[in-house]
Amino acid sequence: MRNISFTCPICGNSDNKYIGFDIKNKPYCRLCCRLSGSKASYKVSNNVDYSLHLDYPLSEKQQEIANQIKSHLIEKHNVLVHAVTGAGKTELIYESFKYYLSKNLKVGFATPRKDVVIDLTPRFKDAFPKCNVVSIYGDHSSVFEGDILVLTTHQLYRYNNYFDLIVLDEIDAFPYKGNKQLETIFRKCIKGNYVLLSATPSSSDIKKIKEDNGVVLQLFERYHKHDLPLPTFIKGNYYSCYLKCLKYLRHFIKENKKVFVFTPTIDIGKSLYSFLSLFIKNGDFVSSKEEERSLIIERFKKGYYSYLVTTSILERGVTIENLQVIVFRADNTIYDCASLIQIAGRAGRKIKSPNGQVIFIGEIYNDEIKKAITEIKKYNEVKNNGKVL
Ligand SMILES: [Zn+2]
Repeated sequence: MRNISFTCPICGNSDNKYIGFDIKNKPYCRLCCRLSGSKASYKVSNNVDYSLHLDYPLSEKQQEIANQIKSHLIEKHNVLVHAVTGAGKTELIYESFKYYLSKNLKVGFATPRKDVVIDLTPRFKDAFPKCNVVSIYGDHSSVFEGDILVLTTHQLYRYNNYFDLIVLDEIDAFPYKGNKQLETIFRKCIKGNYVLLSATPSSSDIKKIKEDNGVVLQLFERYHKHDLPLPTFIKGNYYSCYLKCLKYLRHFIKENKKVFVFTPTIDIGKSLYSFLSLFIKNGDFVSSKEEERSLIIERFKKGYYSYLVTTSILERGVTIENLQVIVFRADNTIYDCASLIQIAGRAGRKIKSPNGQVIFIGEIYNDEIKKAITEIKKYNEVKNNGKVL
């Protein structure tokens, strides 16, 4: 390792450990070697129609927060929106986007996960039918300019000092969470202000935004106004956890409900699925290693399966009607309070079936499980009694 002074122009890294040399002996950043590609140019759009179209009007609470976001941005404040799962976070920034677009300013919506980019792009196209909505992610990057850019956090390296308004969704999701490189890339893309969205912000996220000329807005009501499903903890020993999982799965399927069974690891998932599938046939197992995972999820949505055993890949971003949730080995150290809240938040999202059930199964009723249940209870109390945290 040579000692040189080199600072990566993309991520700001200057640690010699991550600096390599090419054949011409020029230094480069190892962290960013995959992030080399065209940079976006700042073209002023010639679009004049930024009309907003919504299939459903925002709820009163959503509207209130949407207005507050806009006024804070106009005052040049940054915003962190702490909105519970199923609150309809994306819709909260439409008004602000419209405002910026009408002033010919640059807006973007970034998220750590490619799946979410793919999912959100048609929603932005519906909401802004006259706008050029462009999505940018790993293997889908050729056009970098448009009216509204929907992109993964990795792709932000193309946009140096670019966005008048950048929204960052799911700030606590992998791979963004705790990733200094991505955080620097995000910082560098901001020209004006930013909005962060999260259902489970950490106390350090809240502290940081307050120190950065920012405010925190809270939305603890789902758009359909029903309570968040409160998880029930079921205790078992190593073997009886399997039987209890089977019991609840059978019960839900009998009621014609669909079920996600979350498992902490791929190995545990495979072992659980081979057990469950002996008794209940129409299910499947899905993980990040599964090449056909989008197909499996699509088939589940279409009703080919009644249950899916899954790793945390379905922890976020998925909305399925009449879905019940079981977390097998919820006491595994892989889960923390935030991930348990996210997972529980998959249930009861649809207006036609707003009251799903959530079952946590484990050997130990540990602190993370307790905290997650207490937190969800608190959100419901704030919503129902107007109690302020
Ligand atoms: Zn770098």
